[in-house]
Amino acid sequence: MDLADTTEQAAFRAQVRDFIAEHGAKAKAEETEGEALLSREVRAKTKGWRDALVASGWIAPAWPVEYGGAGLTATEQFILNEELAESGLSNVGGFGVMMFGPTLMIHGTDDQKREHLGKILRGEVVWCQGWSEPSAGSDLASLQTRAIREGDEYVLNGQKIWTSGAQHSDWMYMLARTDPDAPKHRGISLLMFPMDSSGVSVRPLINLANNHGFNEVFFEDVRVPVANRVGEENRGWYVGMTLTDYERSGIGNAVGTQRRLRGLLRTALDAPPEQTVLGRAGSGWRLAFTDRWIEAEIARLFSYLNITIRARNMVPNHEASMSKLFTSELNQRIAATTLRLYGLYGSMWDSRRSEAQSGKAAGGYLGAVSSTIAGGTSEVQRNIIATRGLGLPRG
Ligand SMILES: Cc1cc2nc3c(=O)[nH]c(=O)nc-3n(C[C@H](O)[C@H](O)[C@H](O)COP(=O)(O)OP(=O)(O)OC[C@H]3O[C@@H](n4cnc5c(N)ncnc54)[C@H](O)[C@@H]3O)c2cc1C
Repeated sequence: MDLADTTEQAAFRAQVRDFIAEHGAKAKAEETEGEALLSREVRAKTKGWRDALVASGWIAPAWPVEYGGAGLTATEQFILNEELAESGLSNVGGFGVMMFGPTLMIHGTDDQKREHLGKILRGEVVWCQGWSEPSAGSDLASLQTRAIREGDEYVLNGQKIWTSGAQHSDWMYMLARTDPDAPKHRGISLLMFPMDSSGVSVRPLINLANNHGFNEVFFEDVRVPVANRVGEENRGWYVGMTLTDYERSGIGNAVGTQRRLRGLLRTALDAPPEQTVLGRAGSGWRLAFTDRWIEAEIARLFSYLNITIRARNMVPNHEASMSKLFTSELNQRIAATTLRLYGLYGSMWDSRRSEAQSGKAAGGYLGAVSSTIAGGTSEVQRNIIATRGLGLPRG
């Protein structure tokens, strides 16, 4: 099989490279990684980059042109993601562009689309996702946050947890129980409201890598207009599942992995020999690195599988789970391999010291733990592959 670009794909790749050469510097990539990307300060700093992406439609490559997207094919989206990752540039889209906007296009009213889609594209409004609760994660349909209807408003009470970026977000979309007597999947509605609504409070959660990425969010008599419900009352589960399909079918999973490995290879070759285990008898590091290199190739093939499915206008299902499972576990192995390069130095955490002792590797190792939990745990992905992919009975 020939995996090389076709003539049209090669021309598109060249166009993306020209764009990056012209505008890429405005992205200040190194400063804009991770959650910080959402903060108002970084949003202001990267405005030039965002504006250039918006002007080309590439801020939302998959959105139809009528909504301000680029209407790119799945393969073109992959090429765009690949080239951005290759240049170390961040995607500034966030949840709004990736998941909520496309869901609103399907389930939203004309007024809701008019109100929100443009602001999502222009980066004027950042969204967070209120799904998980203390007793509802993998079993999300058990959620207990209540929305009781009073005239043309809902009154919201309850709590969300692990809400990424809530501290930077302007609006939240979330699932709440609107009919406690209905079977659990059928009594849920999807609501949206500004984060500065009266009765909303955000409490930080610091993860084990000492980062403030997610939060608890509490609701006390928050009043949400009925006009802010997306889809029918008590049918929110199905609206939410549309959104989850977009979350899981992210075709960019493997993009960037090979770049990270090339970076690690360079570090291994350049670092002072006394600060690494490379070449030390019995370390096995070369062999471990080689395994990671091969696994990154496999991750890329999973991406190709998902793109092929999307190019046929189908939605990847257990195939997306295979890619998510493999790539997230690979990310943890890469983080462990990175840490092991430095031997005992790797567990030092002092940013004033050398790369080996700075804590970067240790932070990366701790940070990677969450990759097999976020967006559905590895066990949940294995369940999907077993039941939907292989037809095995639930058990
Ligand atoms: C970095 C990060 C960011 C996140 N961001 C958000 C966000 O923005 N918004 C949001 O709403 N949530 C977010 N989450 C929450 C995430 O969706 C949940 O953590 C995840 O769905 C798991 O739920 P839980 O933590 O309640 O664990 P549980 O569901 O309680 O799972 C505990 C353990 O039991 C296992 N398990 C559960 N059910 C099964 C089963 N049926 N079969 C086999 N094993 C099972 C799980 O795999 C896990 O090992 C985020 C999580 C992380 C780590």
